Amino acid sequence: MSTDPNISPRTGMDIDSFREDIRQHLHYTLAKDKFSSTEWDHYRSVVLAVMDRLHDRWINTQQNYYQHKSKRVYYLSMEYLIGRLMDNMLINLGLQDAAADAIEDLGLDYDKVREAEVDAGLGNGGLGRLAACFLDSMATLGVPGLGYGIRYDYGIFDQAIKDGWQVEKPDLWLQYGYPWSVVRPKKKYPVEFYGETTTHKDENGRTHFSWINTDTVTALAYDTPIPGFRNDVVNNLRLWKATSDKGFDLKSFNQGDYINAVRNNLLEENISRVLYPNDKVFKGQELRLKQEYFLVSASLQDAMNRFKKQFDDLRKIPQQMAVQCNDTHPNLAIPELMRVLMDQEGMKWEPAWDIVTQTVNYTNHTLMPEALEKWPLSLMSELLPRHTQIIREIDRRFLNTLEISGGEGSKQDRMRIISDEKDAMIRMGNLGIIGSQKVNGVSELHSRLMKETIFRDFSDIYDNKFTNVTNGVTPRRWLRQCNRPLADLITDRIGEEWITDLDQLNQVEQFAEDESFQELFSEIKLQNKKALAGYIKKTMDITVDPDAIFDIHIKRIHEYKRQLLALMHAITLYNRLKENPEADIEPRVLLFAGKAAPGYKMAQLYIKLINNVANTINNDPEVGSTLRVLFLQNYSVSLAEKMIPAADLSEQISTAGMEASGTGNMKFALNGALTIGTLDGANIEIREQVGKDNIFIFGHTVNEIQQLRDSGYDPQRFYKSDEELKKVIDQIHGGYFSPDQPDLFHPITNALLNQGDYFMILADYRQYIQKQREVEYNYRSSFDWNRKAIINIANMGYFSSDRAIKNYCKRIWDVEI
Ligand SMILES: *Cc1c(COP(=O)(O)O)cnc(C)c1O
Repeated sequence: MSTDPNISPRTGMDIDSFREDIRQHLHYTLAKDKFSSTEWDHYRSVVLAVMDRLHDRWINTQQNYYQHKSKRVYYLSMEYLIGRLMDNMLINLGLQDAAADAIEDLGLDYDKVREAEVDAGLGNGGLGRLAACFLDSMATLGVPGLGYGIRYDYGIFDQAIKDGWQVEKPDLWLQYGYPWSVVRPKKKYPVEFYGETTTHKDENGRTHFSWINTDTVTALAYDTPIPGFRNDVVNNLRLWKATSDKGFDLKSFNQGDYINAVRNNLLEENISRVLYPNDKVFKGQELRLKQEYFLVSASLQDAMNRFKKQFDDLRKIPQQMAVQCNDTHPNLAIPELMRVLMDQEGMKWEPAWDIVTQTVNYTNHTLMPEALEKWPLSLMSELLPRHTQIIREIDRRFLNTLEISGGEGSKQDRMRIISDEKDAMIRMGNLGIIGSQKVNGVSELHSRLMKETIFRDFSDIYDNKFTNVTNGVTPRRWLRQCNRPLADLITDRIGEEWITDLDQLNQVEQFAEDESFQELFSEIKLQNKKALAGYIKKTMDITVDPDAIFDIHIKRIHEYKRQLLALMHAITLYNRLKENPEADIEPRVLLFAGKAAPGYKMAQLYIKLINNVANTINNDPEVGSTLRVLFLQNYSVSLAEKMIPAADLSEQISTAGMEASGTGNMKFALNGALTIGTLDGANIEIREQVGKDNIFIFGHTVNEIQQLRDSGYDPQRFYKSDEELKKVIDQIHGGYFSPDQPDLFHPITNALLNQGDYFMILADYRQYIQKQREVEYNYRSSFDWNRKAIINIANMGYFSSDRAIKNYCKRIWDVEI
């Protein structure tokens, strides 16, 4: 190996330096040569070279925050759905093109190197992806933000499809190591569990509480750098791994039980073993509660350490830190901070409470009752006895304040933290409202419904606490990274300011009817569709027509998201084609992807039905190539990045009132797909931005759904009066798609016909079918379609997560940018 004195391998941002650094890492760090190295080695060498360029900036950024005594934003989230980082890091460092050239110079293939990376899938869906987009935006805006989470050994399961069914496999994302993280062997904090509380009186007669005889688990920090977009800022994502510090349990060891003394360590490490794979449904597992407290305790110890290095006066905490809880999962931050301030710092209740309620904030992500966290009081008091005392005291004092403002009996019961039942429960949402400075919903509709429905009683007494911050997505990943050709076209016309100031996209509107822009846009879309078609050919050996409408429904599988409705449309088209092979139907490829929670039987059955319908349709010679239905396995951030740029039509068809915001909807529109959707979540704000003529809205509104329910919704009425609908349901019910097992899909048809069709699929069916006809007619006029798609792109500025973070800074965190 030779070293050229003109290049600086460790820090140089030019091709030569970068290439040299990759070469040196392959040789000196990994001990590989061109004969022995694999794609993984090449990828690792690139990561090492990128990390070299991040480290100065990372250190400088942190020093800078320290020197300026900047207020820190602590984002607490049980989930970070990150995906791959190589492109993201290179783009934000401004190194992507140099790196691509350097990689090619070394005789390697950039795409192969990139694809060697394994997704960091430490989340289920939208909530986890939101946290990842927010990290990118905080760094890009220079907000002193630090993400805290758990370094699960296993992220969201890998999904395979076997015989049409979902099969879950463990996600081995760490099996060859994770080169984007740095372990901090000395950043360790003890996290206590179980034990009991005692009191003692000090010389002044004041009672002090302590928590004793606990079991201790150690939290060990792993840091991942989060660079902003070309601004030299590098923030930190700190994920905690559970370890045992004891080496072995001395007591067992002394009793001669060497094996068990060592083996116990494994039990402690189980805390960070696996991400719970449920999206929007609460399961009261003890291990999950341990995970939540583990995150909160380690993160607050770390935050308090940082604070105390620079400040003596604890009353300055609210000026120096904002804690944001991503859903109720980290809401134990409220009693934990109370405990730390009182039991460890010796504060009295009132000043401690003032600090907590000016520091902690809570984001609500869903109104669905089955998702609201409620822990049994008995479990909480066994696992966290001191916190349970504190929660009881918060509850008691809260009830007292209600008395003063004249709350009546039943209202009190609804508002209490501890439900007044035989098997008492701790309601984490109520705790979050009572103990937070601000509570926010994630779209205008959701924030309004939150105040009018589940938290109505609270909004009466603390209206000022409630606010809205509509979600957003980072345009770096969701346009610049996943759709470089479109990003380049836009930059060519309006410059690249849009990457950090997405409102600039409105300048694109002037090209909506521009022939050459339209042509380039539709050529890019076609190429993206061909690339996806190639992926489908390679992975599934199915041919799809890139000229057909690419109609995409990708998200977690959930009844409220109504994959079934989209599938029923496909069956309707199929029936029309069978009836009349000449029927006037625009060729269409309906693509699904999404994971179902392992215990969610109905969602699992949806996947099976989609696959069986796909099989029937795709193999029916009478259908020809007009219609294809596909289920792509293992939905992930990386798969989303392949599919979204190839979409013509974005399916956002949840039952109105049930999707808090959605962020998939934003990603699609930003990539020039038109939305077919209900008036739900952020779809409403998308319609406001793009205009009602540039989006396909259908279905019952929130109010209309309420009216239907109030007047005794009868799905049978729709079934009996709509021949096409009846036929679709009869086919599903009668085994048309499952001839070997005619009863297989009865749980689905029973839910629709005999169990009240809670998600109102029958009520919205006909409107949806009609709206889809409108979509087809529109698609045939490519001028019209492209104009609408370009207008969509031009009006997506509002949905940047940069805007969302600016809203948080102003409305919640009191951070200047
Ligand atoms: C954006 C995203 C989601 C959220 O999609 P919704 O349509 O808003 O539910 C879920 N999973 C992945 C991988 C995503 O990228």
